[in-house]
Amino acid sequence: MDFNLSEEQKQYLDTVRRFVGREISSRILTLEKGHAFPFDIIRKAWDLGILNLSIPESVKGYSLDLISTALIIRELSYGDSGIATSAMCNDLANAVIGMHGTEAQQQAFLAPFVERPLLASFCLTEPWAGSDNSAMTTCIRKGKDGKYRLNGTKCFITNASFASQFTVFCKVGKPASPFIACVVVPAPAVKPDTADTGSPACREIPLPCGGRILIGKPEDKLGQRLSNTAAVTFEDIEIGDDQIIGDRRLGFQYLTDVLDYARPMVAAIGVGLARRALDVTLAYTRERRQFGQRICDMPVARETLVAMWKRVELAEMALMKAAFLVQEGAPDRGVYASLAKNIAAEAAVFCTTEGLHLHGGYGFMMEYEIAKLIRDAQIIDIYEGVREVQNMIIGRELV
Ligand SMILES: Cc1cc2nc3c(=O)[nH]c(=O)nc-3n(C[C@H](O)[C@H](O)[C@H](O)COP(=O)(O)OP(=O)(O)OC[C@H]3O[C@@H](n4cnc5c(N)ncnc54)[C@H](O)[C@@H]3O)c2cc1C
Repeated sequence: MDFNLSEEQKQYLDTVRRFVGREISSRILTLEKGHAFPFDIIRKAWDLGILNLSIPESVKGYSLDLISTALIIRELSYGDSGIATSAMCNDLANAVIGMHGTEAQQQAFLAPFVERPLLASFCLTEPWAGSDNSAMTTCIRKGKDGKYRLNGTKCFITNASFASQFTVFCKVGKPASPFIACVVVPAPAVKPDTADTGSPACREIPLPCGGRILIGKPEDKLGQRLSNTAAVTFEDIEIGDDQIIGDRRLGFQYLTDVLDYARPMVAAIGVGLARRALDVTLAYTRERRQFGQRICDMPVARETLVAMWKRVELAEMALMKAAFLVQEGAPDRGVYASLAKNIAAEAAVFCTTEGLHLHGGYGFMMEYEIAKLIRDAQIIDIYEGVREVQNMIIGRELV
């Protein structure tokens, strides 16, 4: 494994860093306070070519390697982990189509994302099926006319209020079925220039094929407030065979493939956020003086800064190893994807907690960025599988 970045990767990084500095970091607290979904930033990211990185070249996508993708997501998250989550969710929803869809499905469901700045949602979690996704009850069932119809409710779905397509994992035949399918439900396009980003309401989407999608009110969240999260209900939606990805009994295997791909992406979000917490804390403790010296020069405070730096660097190494192994299709990729996700989540929570502490009372004030970062960090340890689920995956392999 080579830690040197290629010229192309360096250029990508440079472009993303400048974009993040200009469009996000310079006004992050104002953006967060505004409560509006930053669809214009998503559009600019799309213009720049840093969205939809997993889409295959056969449909004119970037088909970018996983290490470069992780670096881009990490840099976006350095600006804001909510925006990075929203961007990453497009690949989360679309990767399975690229991996297991036919050429016709890739053309139908992926090409629109290459042509326009659209958002997609990945629909797995349900109110009674969170960590245990095998308990899901959303289901496709054949009617008397021999056609499948999709029914069920998903919750905590990123991008839902603005999504133009939904990738849905569901049971086949009945809620208690052992088989999981992956189906794609396209919806009318939601465009950045016409979407109501200020206060999106509940959304009802009647579909031409019959049935409707109901999007709930956007969740009011502790952190990652610049990402959009809402519940999605699918009501009697007709699903053609061309909307079922791969074999309709192998959805669980496809889900594992997607999560192996996605966990390093979440790790990248964690590393970006942790490094941002380290950098804002370094800047603060270089400025702030007590007992006649800078806080960063006090031995115990410096030890804390060193501990934060170590967490960031170790998480970065775990991320790179996981991205490399997933890219190579190594047999133990899942374990390292889980490791990277856990270590990065720990780094994000540790660096924001210690960073806030080193800010003293000022860190508790909303006008300091560390107060935002500590709220954002909590979810890294939860979404894409809580810490205990990652440990379950690692433990199973270990013994
Ligand atoms: C902002 C946000 C965005 C999200 N985006 C998406 C999305 O786009 N698509 C999607 O499908 N989902 C999404 N999710 C859902 C997310 O993946 C789930 O919240 C997560 O998987 C945990 O499920 P749960 O919330 O039901 O928690 P539960 O499964 O109820 O777990 C609660 C707690 O129980 C404990 N626990 C659970 N399982 C175990 C175990 N095996 N051993 C020991 N302890 C355990 C853990 O402490 C855990 O934190 C999102 C969530 C949030 C908050």
